[in-house]
Amino acid sequence: MRRKIVAGNWKMNTTVAEGETLVKELLELVEESDTAAEVIVCPPFTHLDTIGRMVRANYDGKQYIQLGAQNCAGQPSGAFTGEVSALMLKSLSCKYVIIGHSERREYFGETGSSLFQKLILVIQNGMTPIFCVGEKLKDREEKREYEIVGDQIKEVLYQLKGADMEKVIIAYEPVWAIGTGRTATSEQAEEMHAFIRKIVSDKFGKLSQQIPILYGGSCKPSNAAELFSKSNVDGGLIGGASLSSEDFFRIIKSF
Ligand code: PEP
Repeated sequence: MRRKIVAGNWKMNTTVAEGETLVKELLELVEESDTAAEVIVCPPFTHLDTIGRMVRANYDGKQYIQLGAQNCAGQPSGAFTGEVSALMLKSLSCKYVIIGHSERREYFGETGSSLFQKLILVIQNGMTPIFCVGEKLKDREEKREYEIVGDQIKEVLYQLKGADMEKVIIAYEPVWAIGTGRTATSEQAEEMHAFIRKIVSDKFGKLSQQIPILYGGSCKPSNAAELFSKSNVDGGLIGGASLSSEDFFRIIKSF
């Protein structure tokens, strides 16, 4: 059976103190429940040390919440003012790094070749990339969503060796659903996730069966269970709703 994962992408939200409160509340909820899902939070870089210490301090044979980052540099080190390297994230005990979020592609010009560099650095540093793909509204209106998502996968993930691909998590995030309140139907999500698995299988064979594929895009407590009930939807990458411990927890409990 594939891993079930719910990851929160806080984006550029919360002060460190607000982030601490959020994680404190979440730890209390998650520790008392028997959740089927692995829980990840991806706060801003500035919060990683503090939040990382909090989630590790609660270790009691099980770490209830794992730490992820939202991005990393495409270079290992050096004169890149303002950047944060994969090695730095590893040194903060990050286990996951989101790579290629649509906001990074759209506002920071990230493309296939730069994303590949980041992906490799994340893997080389022993962390797991959460690689995001997804079409824009115009692409879907033009019925090009499969072509666009297929190309996003081929241009980056097809360059990996099987042993590296094994470590990847994919997140399907239709851009028209991110932060818009408009969610893909569970059928639309399932169709795209099955397509993604097929594209991965064309290159990597059976390995595709073990790759978690998360859905992201206005996922909330009211629609999570329906989305997660689909056989190829292995969890969610949650933006807005991850900023409320209660909503995020209800999504975690939707499996
Ligand atoms: C995201 O940014 O990854 C996301 C899915 O955002 P939201 O849940 O707010 O649509």
